[in-house]
Amino acid sequence: MTLKSSLVWFRRDLRAYDHAALHHALSSSAQVYCVFVYDSAILAPLPRADRRVNFIHASIAALDAELREMGGALLVRHADAVDAIPALAAELGVDAVFANRDYEPGAIARDADVAARLQAAGRAFHDFKDQVIFEKDEVLTLSAQPFSVFTPYKNAWLKRLAAHPASLAPYEIAPWASRLAAPLAHAPLPTLAELGFDEADPQVATGMAGAAAMFDGFLERIEQYATARDFPAVHGTSGLSVHLRFGTISIRHLVRTVQAMLGYGGGGSGAPVWLSELIWREFYAMILYRHPHVGERSFKPAYDAIEWESGPEADELFAAWCEGRTGYPLVDAAMAQINQTGFMHNRLRMVTASFLVKDLGIDWRWGERYFALKLIDYDMASNTGGWQWAASTGCDAQPYFRIFNPVTQSERFDPEGEFIRQYIPQLASMGRKQIHAPWLHERKGAARDYPAPIVAHDEARKKTLLRFDVLKAPV
Ligand code: FAD
Repeated sequence: MTLKSSLVWFRRDLRAYDHAALHHALSSSAQVYCVFVYDSAILAPLPRADRRVNFIHASIAALDAELREMGGALLVRHADAVDAIPALAAELGVDAVFANRDYEPGAIARDADVAARLQAAGRAFHDFKDQVIFEKDEVLTLSAQPFSVFTPYKNAWLKRLAAHPASLAPYEIAPWASRLAAPLAHAPLPTLAELGFDEADPQVATGMAGAAAMFDGFLERIEQYATARDFPAVHGTSGLSVHLRFGTISIRHLVRTVQAMLGYGGGGSGAPVWLSELIWREFYAMILYRHPHVGERSFKPAYDAIEWESGPEADELFAAWCEGRTGYPLVDAAMAQINQTGFMHNRLRMVTASFLVKDLGIDWRWGERYFALKLIDYDMASNTGGWQWAASTGCDAQPYFRIFNPVTQSERFDPEGEFIRQYIPQLASMGRKQIHAPWLHERKGAARDYPAPIVAHDEARKKTLLRFDVLKAPV
């Protein structure tokens, strides 16, 4: 132990177990304070009712309760973090601030500012890998380059894990919990109203306990994951993305559990497929870190030459997509899901993204921003990765000439029309064969008012192939 006191800054790691920064602070300091900052720079542009703010608010209360049980407490600030962290560090007189790394370009810039201010005042800033198993340059090609194709990345990731099993070791907290400090003059946690927000039901269990219960539930279904995960009407996936986003569950705990299952032949065909999805998350985090332009521009620069639709007609098509009035039932049901719940099933994220870009000819960035506004699990790396995959502009993306047909996707992945009926009750009277393309069939009652398709898929497909022709031109 070398430090008198330190401060742990919680961000997207809202848990009190297996936490790298908390572990390192506790094991090296006599006294450890904890803080979370509702960053006014992030909150200011959000709508007044935002499910993510509710999720964080509830998870912060749970984290505070957990820290109190261990003898500590969570200090909470509502300010610009770049000012608040150095100010609090000075107020408490700590030697250092500890935090877990965030790989988004804005977060990297913010942390550099905070570190510079702390250092100018004679304090240290220590950051740690926590939200992924392997970060930055830990998984490279044989010629020490970053991967841009998923499968070889995944193989190298698995090889590295086999060679470094300690990467999954939990960061212990309990041995040093008595070093947690609880300041005496400790204001109560701010209410949502004090933060300037209204209630918005996150529609998902919050906090560490919520995450643990969801994971336990999923483990009972993991064997079916490989077959069930593509069907939005089936409860086939884990639903843990929001918990991974805010760190209310530890990625090491998830991977350790799956690895242990694979070790004794458990988890059926589902466990390795689920592990692959967790590796996709790390792949996209690595891509964003190595190629920060992917948040704004195509991963492949040549694709920036594509001319997307613009003007009032494109604005109207985009509004119809956002509001679920495209006339394609699976697309509209998916948009109803994101608008009503803040979540969208992975298959539907692919279908709606493909529809916006390749049926409506609209820039993937418009859709990316809409998802960023609505998704409770919004994560810049996975969202830009998913959108650029669907738009064919990204790394290891769908080839541009492979274009999802929204009707056949519907017939394949919602064969009974169950999901469509749940989100578009207006179509409830349609039969299982007719519901995927209502305009081709006789309709009764409310189903008659369901909109006609805003584009004809076959024509849109031809237009898209022409649009992507620009890539064939010599550069
Ligand atoms: P599960 O199937 O249980 O998978 C387990 C975990 O693996 C997920 O929680 C997630 O962390 C990770 N994962 C699964 N699929 C992917 C993937 N394709 N890429 C990266 N990680 C994955 N995921 C986000 O977390 N945030 C986003 O903002 C996001 N935007 C997306 C946008 C588009 C256009 C597409 C096609 C995909 C996007 N994804 C995003 C990935 C994926 O759709 C979600 O992670 C998944 O639907 C979350 O549900 P789940 O937790 O039940 O996943």
